[in-house]
Amino acid sequence: MTKYKLNEPDTVVIGGGIVGASLAFGLARAGERVALLDEGDVAFRASRGNFALVWVQSKGLTLPAYSAWTQKSAKDWHQLSKVLLDETGIDVGHTQPGGFTLCLSQKEVDARLSKLVAFHNQPDTPHFPYEILDHNEVKRRLPAIGPKVVGAVYSPLDGHANPLLLMRALHSYLNQKGGEYRTAHTVDTITREIDGFRVKGQWGEIRTGKLILAAGLGNVRLAPMLGLEAPVKPSRGQLIVTEKTAPFLHNPMVTIRQTNEGGVLIGDSKEEAGFENITGTGVLSVMADRAIQMFPRLAHLNVVRTWSALRVMSPDGFPIYDQTLSGPPAFVTSCHSGVTLAGVHAMTLASVLARSGRLPELLAAFTPKRFHVHTNS
Ligand SMILES: Cc1cc2nc3c(=O)[nH]c(=O)nc-3n(C[C@H](O)[C@H](O)[C@H](O)COP(=O)(O)OP(=O)(O)OC[C@H]3O[C@@H](n4cnc5c(N)ncnc54)[C@H](O)[C@@H]3O)c2cc1C
Repeated sequence: MTKYKLNEPDTVVIGGGIVGASLAFGLARAGERVALLDEGDVAFRASRGNFALVWVQSKGLTLPAYSAWTQKSAKDWHQLSKVLLDETGIDVGHTQPGGFTLCLSQKEVDARLSKLVAFHNQPDTPHFPYEILDHNEVKRRLPAIGPKVVGAVYSPLDGHANPLLLMRALHSYLNQKGGEYRTAHTVDTITREIDGFRVKGQWGEIRTGKLILAAGLGNVRLAPMLGLEAPVKPSRGQLIVTEKTAPFLHNPMVTIRQTNEGGVLIGDSKEEAGFENITGTGVLSVMADRAIQMFPRLAHLNVVRTWSALRVMSPDGFPIYDQTLSGPPAFVTSCHSGVTLAGVHAMTLASVLARSGRLPELLAAFTPKRFHVHTNS
């Protein structure tokens, strides 16, 4: 029989992907005893197949609170990667050299520009620094670009990291602090009791005073057990990785980045394809073709792997944060930019949840009630 260190942890987090692991890290850092339950390899796990940008530019059009949250996260990331390095010895490869969105036509530049203007014209918008660059200026900063690059948007706030090392470091930190990361722990049912929750699966059951749902696409089924909702759907993204090559790309682009090991990641499509996480040469060849136009040297590299993964997408693309209004505290968190938001989840949100047991007021904008349609009929 499995022996657990924690019979009744302060908090159970369901879902050991980037979102759940970041929150579990922060709760453990705040002194809580945390159990992180994860379904394991059989599950859809966006955290293991993503593009790993810590991305600020373009986030928050129509919901300025999302831009503020993202910008805060980009700041918190510095502290997160430092704590992880100091405490676990794992360098998660986080850098913030600034990121580019490359455009292959004037139409693309104009579309970007009008989005940026619309973004900055919104009331209460936390502005972020950016520059619109023409071909010559992009060439000066990124000598490897091809002649078809017409221009780019650059923001110094953008960065990237290694998501698999991030996961390993978060899990390792949790373990060091006396928490538990339990894999092959699919949660089947959750029962609310007067002073807490009973969480059950085929592996047994665990009781806790506080519960966080961070199960990605699994939140759809789990949230209603707590009277909460997480109306997320899968959005497929396909990716390509090339063989390793000498460093030529210091900065991340929205669809191309060179990892610190030397491989070049080319991504990532956005497709509505249900739970079919397969790849197809049609989409991959369009992605590869655009990437080669941006950086012609990519044509000489071999592709070593392609894959697809499913984003956790809400109806408007923004995160969902919600909580129970009475009784023992339970929360649901769902988002499609879990790498970007790892900083703020780990360093800010988790400590507020540990301290107050409530979501911070600034997350009220992310309630799933925004999807409730009111009609007069
Ligand atoms: C192609 C692609 C590219 C991306 N690029 C970026 C990017 O550049 N930058 C960025 O910030 N984000 C990016 N993302 C998004 C990022 O990967 C996700 O936001 C993040 O992985 C979501 O994390 P999560 O922990 O919520 O979900 P997941 O990674 O899906 O993890 C959920 C976990 O919950 C577990 N689970 C589910 N149901 C249960 C249950 N009943 N019981 C127990 N456990 C359960 C699963 O085992 C899983 O491990 C990308 C995603 C994709 C797919």
